[in-house]
Amino acid sequence: MGLIVQKYGGTSVGTVERIQAVARRVQATVNQGHGVVVVVSAMGKTTDGLVQLAHEITANPSRREMDMLLSTGEQVSIALLSMALQALGQPAISMTGAQVGIITEAIHSRARILQIATDRIERHLQAGKVVVIAGFQGISSTEELEITTLGRGGSDTSAVALAAALRADCCEIYTDVPGILTTDPRLVTEARLMAEITCDEMLELASLGAKVLHPRAVEIARNYGVMLVVRSSWTDDPGTRVLAPAYQPRRIAGLEIVHPVDCVEYDRDQARIALLRVPDQPGVAARLFGEIATQDLDVDLIIQSIHEGNTNDIAFTVIQASLLRAEAVAEALVPALAGAGLGEHACEVMIDRAIAKVSIAGAGMIGRPGIAAQMFATLAAAGINIQMISTSEVKVSCVVAAADCDRAVAALCEAFEVTSQPTAKATSEWSEVPPVRGVALDLNQAQLAIRAIPDRPGMAAKVFQLLAAQQISVDMIIQSQRCRVIDGVTTRDIAFTVAQGDAAQAQACLQAVAAELGFREVVVNTAIAKVSAVGAGMVGRPGVAACMFRALAAEQINIQMITTSEIKVSCVVAQAEGARALQAIHRAFKLETAGMVTTGVATR
Ligand code: ASP
Ligand code: MG
Repeated sequence: MGLIVQKYGGTSVGTVERIQAVARRVQATVNQGHGVVVVVSAMGKTTDGLVQLAHEITANPSRREMDMLLSTGEQVSIALLSMALQALGQPAISMTGAQVGIITEAIHSRARILQIATDRIERHLQAGKVVVIAGFQGISSTEELEITTLGRGGSDTSAVALAAALRADCCEIYTDVPGILTTDPRLVTEARLMAEITCDEMLELASLGAKVLHPRAVEIARNYGVMLVVRSSWTDDPGTRVLAPAYQPRRIAGLEIVHPVDCVEYDRDQARIALLRVPDQPGVAARLFGEIATQDLDVDLIIQSIHEGNTNDIAFTVIQASLLRAEAVAEALVPALAGAGLGEHACEVMIDRAIAKVSIAGAGMIGRPGIAAQMFATLAAAGINIQMISTSEVKVSCVVAAADCDRAVAALCEAFEVTSQPTAKATSEWSEVPPVRGVALDLNQAQLAIRAIPDRPGMAAKVFQLLAAQQISVDMIIQSQRCRVIDGVTTRDIAFTVAQGDAAQAQACLQAVAAELGFREVVVNTAIAKVSAVGAGMVGRPGVAACMFRALAAEQINIQMITTSEIKVSCVVAQAEGARALQAIHRAFKLETAGMVTTGVATR
């Protein structure tokens, strides 16, 4: 006897017959003794159709009127579904976001939910009715009564937010696919349905899973401990369970983080090893990290920026207790690598034991330009130099001098109005979790490299603030080890990726400040692909990155850049090799057997 929130997407309510099928499914759930709240999207492609209509009137419709228009789509489907339920003899009532009291920010077309009133819903449930609620929409406040929408794909967010507010036992997302797959089945025929995935993994796989489940919905599920399931509307198969930490008794006020960042994390137990001037050819990273894995040493951050000439620098961090052994492995490799025809610029190993890693984490940074820039600016204002940068979908990590760690954490907590915590380490609970849960390919990115920018606090901040001001979202950001002294000034390279469509604009706006910031040039490469492997089980487990690099080396695929978070490894490769890279990694982690792994680990 529980309370279940069910959400049905546009295709699932696309026709009268489908609405009737949904009604039968809802009624069956009621007959099992549950209270049911249903959230629906607009029928089929209704929202796209409405957008189209608006653009036939004007190229620049006002956001307020767009919200007024788009919110009608869901009003149609809630009314029809209620009628279908009533026709089956099941008492039901439809409600708009405003009628429920889904209060949002007063920002049209992408409002975040601030508060949800539950009293009216609860009254109807108590009276034995199914409550059918319009997804995607809300109301700005009880005085203004402005209709708002949450952004495309927003009804997932409505559903999970309602489940959190109502403390529902479960939120089921019904869709036209069987659940979440280990990768894109159009590129890898062996893609398998995952039995489960954690919210953190889901967020890191945003480029793979965002169409199935909106990242904002995942973030709410994680923060409030909502039990979430993604499953097919057409079958009774169990689908994919999206695992959240245990229920969090949090206030519902300010439900969707108005803050883009959830917390600041730090790790003082880090030491850095850099291999400078290693050959830029397939197999080098595989060899290095393979050797390190055979020593059972766990690597944390791995960073490789763009090559210069025919060499790369690869830098990585380990816990301090592993430094000496990792250094020995790296030193032992030098003769072999130097023998690869590099002559006088033979490679060398550099270590630094006095470093710390500070990170900002949060799903709010997805698609929101300027968050990384704000982090860099905050560190710069505190006079802290950033030695390395590594990013993932929901995290930006900077390596700084150990002596700067406390100040960096304090400054970031103040800037983002959050608290700090030590970076989570592996726990034995994870031992049954597969090291990699899913792999993703992004073909839509372009790589930009700023060559020889002075190594001073504030440079990264300037660069990324400039891009943010142009509303350009940056994905990977990599600042690696290589230092060059030009005319007495120490310089580094900063590389990053943006959507291909933004590449030219990004290059132009940076080129314009080259002289002012004192860097040499901005190089663009649009023929790249990003392949990523994600899994919470890779934390504290040696050899995962090595396995990925080995798979690429075996295919003779050169790795152009590497960036990592605790649960993700991403590599940039040539675009033409992207699909083959994805297939190789999927195979290397044996994901074709994925659905068979059940871990029983539900919470952390
Ligand atoms: N109908 C809205 C859209 O198409 C919201 C949703 O379906 O989630 O984006
Ligand atoms: Mg959707």
